Amino acid sequence: MVENTQSNLAVTVTGVEDDRTGLSIPTLRRALADNLFYLQGKFPRIATPNDYYMALAYTVRDRLLQRWLSTIRTYLEQNVKVVSYLSAEFLLGPHLENNLINLGIYEQVQQAVTESGLDLPTLLAQEEEPGLGNGGLGRLAACYLESLATLEIPAVGYGLRYEFGIFDQEIQEGWQVEITDKWLQYGNPWEIARPEAAQMVKFGGHTEVYTDNQGAMRVNWIPGQEVKGIPYDTPILGYRVNTANTLRLWKAEAPESFDFEAFNLGDYYGSVDAKIVSENITKVLYPNDEPLQGKQLRLQQQYFFVSCALQDMIRIHLRRGNPIETFHEKFAVQLNDTHPSIGVAELMRLLVDEHGMGWERAWEITQQTFGYTNHTLLPEALEKWPLDLFRRLLPRHLEIIYEINRRFLDQVRIQYPDDHEKLAQLSLIDESGERYVRMAHLATVGSHTINGVAELHTQLLQAEVLQPFAELFAVGNWRQTFTNVTNGVTPRRWVALSNPRLTRLITSKIGDRWLTHLDDLRQLETFADDPAFQQEWRQVKQAVKEDLANRIYKQQGIAINPSSLFDIQVKRIHEYKRQHLNVLHIITLYDRLKQNPNLDLVPRTFIFGGKAAPGYVMAKLMIKLINSVAETVNNDPTVRDRVKVVFIPDYNVTNSQPVYPAADLSEQISTAGKEASGTGNMKFSLNGALTIGTLDGANVEIREEVGAENFFRFGLSADEVAQLKAGGYTPQYYYQSNVLLKSAIDLIDSGLFSGGDRELFRPLINSLMNEDPYLLFVDYPDYIECQSQVSRAYRDSEHWTRMSILNVARMGKFSSDRSIREYSDRIWHTPPVKVELEAYAQTKAGLSV
Ligand SMILES: *Cc1c(COP(=O)(O)O)cnc(C)c1O
Repeated sequence: MVENTQSNLAVTVTGVEDDRTGLSIPTLRRALADNLFYLQGKFPRIATPNDYYMALAYTVRDRLLQRWLSTIRTYLEQNVKVVSYLSAEFLLGPHLENNLINLGIYEQVQQAVTESGLDLPTLLAQEEEPGLGNGGLGRLAACYLESLATLEIPAVGYGLRYEFGIFDQEIQEGWQVEITDKWLQYGNPWEIARPEAAQMVKFGGHTEVYTDNQGAMRVNWIPGQEVKGIPYDTPILGYRVNTANTLRLWKAEAPESFDFEAFNLGDYYGSVDAKIVSENITKVLYPNDEPLQGKQLRLQQQYFFVSCALQDMIRIHLRRGNPIETFHEKFAVQLNDTHPSIGVAELMRLLVDEHGMGWERAWEITQQTFGYTNHTLLPEALEKWPLDLFRRLLPRHLEIIYEINRRFLDQVRIQYPDDHEKLAQLSLIDESGERYVRMAHLATVGSHTINGVAELHTQLLQAEVLQPFAELFAVGNWRQTFTNVTNGVTPRRWVALSNPRLTRLITSKIGDRWLTHLDDLRQLETFADDPAFQQEWRQVKQAVKEDLANRIYKQQGIAINPSSLFDIQVKRIHEYKRQHLNVLHIITLYDRLKQNPNLDLVPRTFIFGGKAAPGYVMAKLMIKLINSVAETVNNDPTVRDRVKVVFIPDYNVTNSQPVYPAADLSEQISTAGKEASGTGNMKFSLNGALTIGTLDGANVEIREEVGAENFFRFGLSADEVAQLKAGGYTPQYYYQSNVLLKSAIDLIDSGLFSGGDRELFRPLINSLMNEDPYLLFVDYPDYIECQSQVSRAYRDSEHWTRMSILNVARMGKFSSDRSIREYSDRIWHTPPVKVELEAYAQTKAGLSV
């Protein structure tokens, strides 16, 4: 790049356009050159591709700032109600291309870049995505921020500015290897630090009761440690609107006066140690799917960002001239899972201890402020913190939680007199063994609305994990209600950006309103049987598959056949998601080919991608199994490319964007009742893949929308899973009674995929044979049968194309715009607010120079 980018950046501007906001090609070129020189400090000759990327990023940021500052000013002046989305994770993906699309300046910038002798895709590829999330939950938060801005709803996202995000994944000899994610090492052009808005956060120490000068009993928390939170703001721009909301992420620093005593005593190095300890709080993102036992730092992270956020909101609220009593009228705070649920106790502390409010009034405000989104039914994923850890770190919050619990259980007793079992079930404290604080219970009791993320999940939530609460709230005078808001994804990133070919084809037929009114896709139904349109549809899919094939060849050296059926499963690696069921199908196909080398199979390319939590032994072994099967199958001459297996390393937003559009078949095969919603399922279907899936999470609703005849459903329902488990399940019986299944397992056991090593995959086989907690063996026969239906359907290309078109046409419901409208109308009550741009020229005129 350094060689072939002898760019010609110097341009003379003759017009009057502002250098930092103008959109003409010469102005953009001039800005690029200026930024390279003045911000990167480089001549073109020695600039790296990253320097050019940075210069371009700043060029685009300048054009964003006007919208962002005007948005902030509008919210302040109009004193509007703001959504505050609290999330420990935001999996944003790269900003640059999304901002080009949402600003509507893609073509101009592309031309300016080209005329400067540079290549836009090369520059876009330089961006290190902020991997500040694990998977679905963090990505949902990112889609929601984008939709909030697009719908012009005032909002701020609060979270943690992890120095190291989710690890980068390398595959070495088939095994996952974790590499530190140094996303900040070359600087982040999208954030602006706001040290003037820093907040102090206390930890540890003890509490003291005192009497204030009105004679009221008050509590004072004397901390053992204080940490400073510095906010870093990133603008989140809506699609073709002036609204640019703020994502405010907090970085932990030691306060200036850190450990003053040690310093005065001359223990300089001791005081520096204290500084390091403070800064550890925002060092690294925790991977999920690992036990949190003893992860004190994780609780510190949660409290740290939630306390910063709530203090920040109160500061803004008071600065706008509002009384503290109207806090809930100006902020709707959403808890993205239980990770920020300590906020319930923290808001109580701030109102009661810091702002002198009475308990009852403070509790009303708190309950009217929070909404809680539950994301999981897996018992091991429900957060609970050991009581003594809690007391050590947050002594005042433990007292507050006890008081919330005491008052809550008093209410419960009225409804269920003398029912100790009920009380124990509902209590915020788990006293069944070692004592814990139950974070889901705190969130539930402290919120006005509790929601699940798909219809089935919301039902199960009320029937299982939060059943006692659902039963309790159904009678009596409770504020809380349960409701469902099915997840969605933003069509801007997941279609316009990821699949420009499909975007052009759709727009050529129905115009471009569908990008903000996804239901418009229905108009495509008219063309589902139109041979000319079908032809174009197939050409787009084919071209997108070739793009992915080229990318895989470039990055991994594996040649895949773009005419084969692309059968894709990309998501976190987890036993409940059953990547190993997919592998059993591959082994069965391989087995059949070995038995009958001339078998007439529809050629398939199986593509996998996903990270396993570093401590999740079984998931890491599943990755090894996929790669080992790939190795064997891909190199066996009898297969003759009829089956190919690829594991794409380092699955993240950047690497996922070319994958979803290229799928013919989307694998959504979780054990029914385990996947809360899924959003990958939506991205695939919206890009014309057909789904093979169980009746789990949002699959149920996708199937309802696209029609059962356009969806490959298999496997037990959630009810059947529960029944089977209740009746006692013996996997060996299923192994013995299905020859194909027995043969597939025996092939793994024989060491065929592990160079004769019969021990390597033993833990996986043992788990399946002895427990099979996710019921692979039960669903296997139906899955295999369903997969042969898929192959038969794929041979009828007209029919397949029709199904693909109908899938896209009927996916309107799954826009995150629809989800956000539901939250806003039913939970937050936050109407849109139009932002008027204040011209930068005006701002300048206002400066008293
Ligand atoms: C959408 C997405 C997910 C969620 O996928 P599921 O299939 O719903 O689990 C995870 N990771 C990334 C990078 C995504 O883009």
